Amino acid sequence: MKRYFLLVAIVVAALTSSCEGKRQAEHIFLIGFDGWGSYCMDSVEMPATRALMEQGCYTLKKRTVLPSVSAPNWASMFMGATTELTGWTDNGERAPLEPAYVNENGVFPTIFSLIREQMPESKTACIFEWGGIRPLLDEKAIDHCVQLKPEDIAAASADYIKKVKPDFMAVIYDDPDHVGHSKGHDTAEYYARMEELDSYLAEIIAAIKEAGIYDDSIIVVTSDHGGIGHGHGGQSMMEMETPFIIAGKNIKQGGEFSEVMLQQDTAHTLAEAFGLKVPQMWSGNSMSQVFD
Ligand SMILES: [Zn+2]
Repeated sequence: MKRYFLLVAIVVAALTSSCEGKRQAEHIFLIGFDGWGSYCMDSVEMPATRALMEQGCYTLKKRTVLPSVSAPNWASMFMGATTELTGWTDNGERAPLEPAYVNENGVFPTIFSLIREQMPESKTACIFEWGGIRPLLDEKAIDHCVQLKPEDIAAASADYIKKVKPDFMAVIYDDPDHVGHSKGHDTAEYYARMEELDSYLAEIIAAIKEAGIYDDSIIVVTSDHGGIGHGHGGQSMMEMETPFIIAGKNIKQGGEFSEVMLQQDTAHTLAEAFGLKVPQMWSGNSMSQVFD
């Protein structure tokens, strides 16, 4: 009888674990630059970003969900679904449309929700500049969730990385969006801001190395939308095409990929990187081709 139960336990364990994939890295970092259109890559150096493009895989054609506005696009990146499901059809303190589903925290499930549920021992963080990011995260599922001024973000992120060595951390800047609105997209000021943001990315990567976890990390760098003239929200490719760059442990050195990608595929790709089971209400695809 005892043997029978042992056999059942083994079969159940095997079936349960077969639902999940292999975890590709112990640490994953998502760095976001709000308003970074792919069009700018013809006109900037951005050495830290380009080093990741060379080491890993990328597309410059990841499309926004519509409208090409911040909250809808960050929401889809975290929530693995389109705006019709997440309810984030525009910026706001609450989703303008009733979400198709909410979890026990009252939020459409995000990548942070999945990590908390399926990897309860993990350490997660989100450091962000724009307050509009907060309702898109599932804050209760995050250990360290803080809004900071842009000049403090890189140093605070570096500190946290070295102290805690988080499993998952998102660092979201609200630029170059500001400079896009004030000085204009596709301007010298916009390009100068991208170079500055690249230097913050370099600081964060240096901290990952100092923490001794670089070889066991995946780094993703991406954006919510681009812009044209002094704004965004429309349907031009300058507004709708953003970079998605992924490099690190178990990521191919594959260069530019041709698979199509939408914002919600970001969450699916992060979930695959952690070997997480994706919930039914998520809609999208993992960029599985980037994994070794
Ligand atoms: Zn934005």
